[in-house]
Amino acid sequence: MNLVDNFGRKHTYLRISITDACNFRCTYCTSGKTFPVTPRSQWMLPHEIQQIAESFIEMGIQKIRITGGEPLVRKDAAEIFQRLGDLPVELALTTNGVFLPKFIDQFEKIGLNKINVSLDSLDPLEFYRIVGVDDFQKVKNAIQLAVQRGFEVKINAVPTQSTSAKEILDFVQLTQNQNVEVRMIEMMPFSGNDWDRNQVLTKEEILNILSNEYSFSSIPKLKEETAQLYQIDGFKGKIGIISTVSDPFCEGCNRLRITADGKLKNCLFGKREDDLLGRIRRGEPLHEIMIDNVRAKHAQTGGQVLSSNMENRSMIAIGG
Ligand code: SAM
Repeated sequence: MNLVDNFGRKHTYLRISITDACNFRCTYCTSGKTFPVTPRSQWMLPHEIQQIAESFIEMGIQKIRITGGEPLVRKDAAEIFQRLGDLPVELALTTNGVFLPKFIDQFEKIGLNKINVSLDSLDPLEFYRIVGVDDFQKVKNAIQLAVQRGFEVKINAVPTQSTSAKEILDFVQLTQNQNVEVRMIEMMPFSGNDWDRNQVLTKEEILNILSNEYSFSSIPKLKEETAQLYQIDGFKGKIGIISTVSDPFCEGCNRLRITADGKLKNCLFGKREDDLLGRIRRGEPLHEIMIDNVRAKHAQTGGQVLSSNMENRSMIAIGG
């Protein structure tokens, strides 16, 4: 059986957050604040994550991305990766990279070869201003290690109006000799991130910065992909722009999300949450609630207008 919503969108991609704890305090995510972390007893345990993942695979999920918070700060992360690695599903990870070297051998062994690393500036001082931790070099080294070891690496950055054109062009420069994808994400509104539409650096503005300096072509996009990709003439890598705010792409959405406390969300911006963890702890099946949840999915942005007072969790508590 498949997870198809009322708009004919088939859901094959699941993002599982394994913790809402994070070692960074990114301005665009938490506004630099510390959020209370869910008590560990309310997190899904490794065998529960496996059990939930198995139910989704039975319903047609083909790819699982592990995220957080910061997934690599969870003490039993290796056990979770091992359990998911044994399942018939493609695995991917989103991380800030700081603890990536510790896990890289395991990722190779379990066949997790798609890693998105967040890197919001190529200037150490600006990086510190954004994330609140002096770990620039660790993140850079982790990216280099993953690229050298043959992982498919994407770099995620959230530029805003305070990002200089030079910074955007420095990111573009990273794609000259390396086959990496640098993805610029428009800043999205979540609870607690003090979002203001005027802060968002839009796709159009980023493209203007690019076109002042380079000639480039746009690469045809599959409908379920979030990033519109561009390639600078003669460069090895690619630039992606995720225009959730200025030009949403919900019509091709194939994603579902599970929060670290085991709630199913059918949209990053949706209010509806269904408690999967409570159900499996009570020994109840999940299939019916999965189908209901998917059928209730709104056509666009969770049925909400993107604004600073949307009803939703913080990004750190949803899982990016
Ligand atoms: N800790 C991991 C990391 O840093 O990649 C995974 C979780 S983080 C929430 C996942 C992604 O969400 C990161 O690439 C981050 O840049 C992005 N993100 C967080 N808040 C955002 C926001 N308000 N708008 C756009 N992207 C955001």
